Amino acid sequence: MDCIFCKIVKGEIPCAKLYEDKNVLSFLDIGPINKGHALVIPKKHYVTIIDTPDDVLKDLVTATKKVTKAVKLATGVEGVNNLLNNGKASGQAVFHAHMHIIPRFEGDDFKFPWPAKKYGAGEMEEMRKNIVKLI
Ligand code: AMP
Ligand code: ZN
Repeated sequence: MDCIFCKIVKGEIPCAKLYEDKNVLSFLDIGPINKGHALVIPKKHYVTIIDTPDDVLKDLVTATKKVTKAVKLATGVEGVNNLLNNGKASGQAVFHAHMHIIPRFEGDDFKFPWPAKKYGAGEMEEMRKNIVKLI
């Protein structure tokens, strides 16, 4: 398969490896938002969080916690974003599921917080019902 992260898992492309276990691999992002920006990926190819089996996701979240702690200590930052993009419209560019671990400091140029929208009367409850019936 022509997937850059699958090639990293197979060792066909190098990576700055941080951690691995049976189901997941973590390495430094090649284009960091801030230095120390890391990724955690499933070793098997799944496109989004929705496609990824629960047992693999559990390992992915556990590894995210371990690596987040180490990145925070190593970089000395006060904050870290854990972020997972699902689909092109969300900003996903590599279509192999991956969790971002982004070290953050006051005044950096990553655009948070986002501009918050407002619900109209009754809209929030309608949205809540529409989501709940699909869980
Ligand atoms: P996303 O927009 O969520 O799909 O993020 C993809 C991320 O993968 C970007 O932050 C890229 O910098 C990163 N990336 C792409 N190719 C590589 C690579 N060969 N090694 C490490 N990180 C990569
Ligand atoms: Zn892949």
